[in-house]
Amino acid sequence: MKKAELKVYKDRLLSLRARLRGDVSQLADAALKKSRSEANGDLSTMPIHMADVGTDNFEQEFTLSLMENDGDALEQIEAALERIEESTFGLCEECGARIPKARLNAIPYVALCVKCASTNERV
Ligand SMILES: [Zn+2]
Repeated sequence: MKKAELKVYKDRLLSLRARLRGDVSQLADAALKKSRSEANGDLSTMPIHMADVGTDNFEQEFTLSLMENDGDALEQIEAALERIEESTFGLCEECGARIPKARLNAIPYVALCVKCASTNERV
């Protein structure tokens, strides 16, 4: 993953962490939205996937509601930030496969690919 892309996810993770810790502020919200559109902008050279169209709000809501229901989210966010430092971010912790960007955009701290997640019953 390119450094610029990693930065987008890092910014999102930092915003999510701030939200989760209760540092809810307009700033964090703005950063979340901004990095989100940057992440999308980076995909402009790739073919448009129908599933990606018009799902922004849904994904945002999905991420936030997921966080509220998941006590481990903060830990997972910390782990994801570590993976960014170690340049292993975006790779499945189980099998090493590349995690699709659509999945990372929905849950930036996700550690497993879809296949391993369904096997492990983890997100
Ligand atoms: Zn995997």
